[in-house]
Amino acid sequence: MSTHITLNNGVAMPALGFGVFQTPPEETAASVGEALRVGYRLIDTAASYGNEREVGEGIRQSGLERSEVFVETKLWITDYGYEAALHGFEKSAGKLGMEQIDLLLLHQPLTADFERTIGAYRALEKLLADGKVRAIGVSNFMPDVLERLLEQVEVVPAVNQVEVHPYFCQPEVQQADKEHGILTQAWSPMGGITSYRGDSTRSTFEDPVLGEIATAHGKTPAQVMLRWHLQQGRSAIPKSVKPARITANFEVFDFELSTEELARIDALDTGVRSGPDPDSITLESFHRDIPEA
Ligand code: NDP
Repeated sequence: MSTHITLNNGVAMPALGFGVFQTPPEETAASVGEALRVGYRLIDTAASYGNEREVGEGIRQSGLERSEVFVETKLWITDYGYEAALHGFEKSAGKLGMEQIDLLLLHQPLTADFERTIGAYRALEKLLADGKVRAIGVSNFMPDVLERLLEQVEVVPAVNQVEVHPYFCQPEVQQADKEHGILTQAWSPMGGITSYRGDSTRSTFEDPVLGEIATAHGKTPAQVMLRWHLQQGRSAIPKSVKPARITANFEVFDFELSTEELARIDALDTGVRSGPDPDSITLESFHRDIPEA
């Protein structure tokens, strides 16, 4: 199994990355540094996470060349519309301390204000044409919203980053992405959100089926979940601030799940999301000012 996935515009991206949602800024540079030390080469952040500056610091302190690390960030909805999104890129690039971003996503669709979403996406297309970003994409776009976008834009998104873990697999989103040549990237790939936000009685980390499969391979449920994504062709971006977990979550290239085991994991899908319904995201309910660089 390859460690990289080729996006629909030919750019190669590491399949397994490192997320920093909820990582406090003061812990971000060290977490990113630890991730790079153990071998991750893809970092996923967002303007709304408030830690882009520290992601940039962690990468610079690692001693790696800029070209060796694939950096992904997301524009927040308050910066949608064409001009605002172009400026949103400048804010993110300025904080990261980078002239070029590898992958820039729209963090959420604004379904009730779709013109602004389209304007923001057109800004991504412009940034791509100008070489300021190497690939562009979306996040939390359900199939109907994806269709609305595709009808009005030129460049097919390279990536759709959505909630995917064993308790919420979104097969219809994955199918729609596949039909359009869009890579599905799993956020909360280990179902972390089922622990820190959802009903505490349904944590993926405690799931008996995952536990059984993990024991059979001498692995942990977290490692089994990450391997499941990779074998099914998805990108995954696990987050941790704990060095031992950062290391363990990358040790997923030395075992193989059987077809039966993959199917058993697929069967855990409850069809119930833990994250917010993308349709509920509005400028009123999720307003956040993104500071200047
Ligand atoms: P994850 O599935 O990555 O789980 C992370 C949570 O699980 C944290 O609470 C972490 O705690 C804990 N954890 C990490 N490793 C282990 C382990 N091996 N065993 C047990 N617990 C573990 O979920 P996230 O929601 O954090 O998602 C990952 C990334 O996806 C984010 O960082 C972000 O980059 C992206 N994301 C994108 C969203 C979007 O809307 N586009 C929404 C949500 C996430 P600790 O740090 O203490 O180890």
